[in-house]
Amino acid sequence: DPFLAGLRTGCSFATLPRGFYSQVDPRPLREPRLLHANPDAAALIGLDAGVLRTPGFLALCAGGGRLADVPPVATAYSGHQFGVWAGQLGDGRAHLLGDVQTPGGSWEIQLKGSGRTPYSRMGDGWAVLRSSVREYLASEAMAGLGIPTTRALALAASDDPVVRETVETAAIVTRLAPSFVRFGHFEHWGHSHHEQKALLDYVVGHWYPGCRVMAGSETDTPATACRLLAEVVRRTARLIAQWQLVGFCHGVMNTDNMSILGLTLDYGPFGFMDAFQANHVCNHSDTAGRYAWNAQPAVARWNLYRLAGSLLVLGCDAPALEASLAPFEAEFLAAYRAGLARKLGLNAWRPADAALEDDWWNLLHAQQADFTQAFRLLAGADLDADPWLALFADRAPARAWLDRYLARLSEQGGDAAARRAAMLRVNPLYVLRNHLAQRAIEAAQRGDASEIDRLLVLLRDPYTERPGFESYACPPAAGEPAVAVSCSS
Ligand code: AMP
Ligand code: MG
Ligand code: MG
Repeated sequence: DPFLAGLRTGCSFATLPRGFYSQVDPRPLREPRLLHANPDAAALIGLDAGVLRTPGFLALCAGGGRLADVPPVATAYSGHQFGVWAGQLGDGRAHLLGDVQTPGGSWEIQLKGSGRTPYSRMGDGWAVLRSSVREYLASEAMAGLGIPTTRALALAASDDPVVRETVETAAIVTRLAPSFVRFGHFEHWGHSHHEQKALLDYVVGHWYPGCRVMAGSETDTPATACRLLAEVVRRTARLIAQWQLVGFCHGVMNTDNMSILGLTLDYGPFGFMDAFQANHVCNHSDTAGRYAWNAQPAVARWNLYRLAGSLLVLGCDAPALEASLAPFEAEFLAAYRAGLARKLGLNAWRPADAALEDDWWNLLHAQQADFTQAFRLLAGADLDADPWLALFADRAPARAWLDRYLARLSEQGGDAAARRAAMLRVNPLYVLRNHLAQRAIEAAQRGDASEIDRLLVLLRDPYTERPGFESYACPPAAGEPAVAVSCSS
């Protein structure tokens, strides 16, 4: 297609040995419609907005095109699901179309919901419009929050029926990331030195060149693997700290959904919390609460141990891998504490703040106060405490906590107006609450993408108040039925 002519395309993943992937064409949607396209993501790969309206772009995003002459592939990976080794998984409904080289780096283009592959197992290869709208919006919401994530380029829809709990319709999300390599890719090759070394060289060569350790003129493979692990530990710890600080629950933190680049990956039954509950579980399929909000840091660490185990085959010794894993807790706490201090408007975190912060979470948890509003309205609570106090059914404990907090602020001194403004730059007003996503889904199911448009305007810059959109900053109304999300997608 002419719009691809200016792009430098290829498929670096296909330079790996043949067992890493299968060549397989997507199954095109029938009579596809481009429900939405994202000029911000398009710009990342050098496409201007005009291209997004061309038939060739729709064909590509609906599974009916190729990236120049690059053969699409599905990749093989394995993983632990809900703590249990699941064996081979792989791209069961995703096709990697290839990558685009830009001056800012290379971007893989991947379709999700684009048909069966050799890794589909019992699945049909489809994705429903409902979950595709959620992924499309969530990726851009995370980007707007400054949280590392895969990106969403386009959302194509059709009337093709897909059977889940009810009959729904099919859609394809076109996703972008520098790489979609998961912990699960490493776990897949955990018993094969040759392939694991190829994967290590590939990932380090492209995305972690600083991790390469040389022994004379040769790469020291075990030392390089340990350095890569240490870097993935650092990125993952920081990522999870950012999730915690916006009340994001991933919902399915299986090792196959963990990005080797530390990106938020695979949006399914995720949720941004409304009412705060430390043990909130957003995924109705997660009956044991394995992936509750307050379990996410420990789960990430557990997942990193699975990644580490897969590196033993490279000749890494266990103490060296342990040494790479050990900083997880300190990295997480440093990022979490610094971020929480910023959100609370504190110039720095002091050990004495731990009690104030614990009591903050205890207060929110006890009264199930709205996560996002509790932080946002705290910024102005020194001027007028009422809007913040109104979040609490029982005001006395909230008032008592606020007095301690205001005392802490006056101890620190400084310019209160500057502190308030800084707090409004780190505490979002708008997050992708489930009920907001649900409204956009219901409109999209009627062919109306205008609600997606409106949400994207808010979520791209979630810190800036937009007049007329007050309700978008609020939790669902008391009568509004709760949206249940599950692994079904
Ligand atoms: P997920 O729970 O979405 O992370 O998916 C776990 C595994 O199941 C991955 O290998 C997916 O590719 C695969 N999978 C999920 N849904 C489907 C589907 N509808 N068709 C084929 N494979 C699927
Ligand atoms: Mg193969
Ligand atoms: Mg997945």
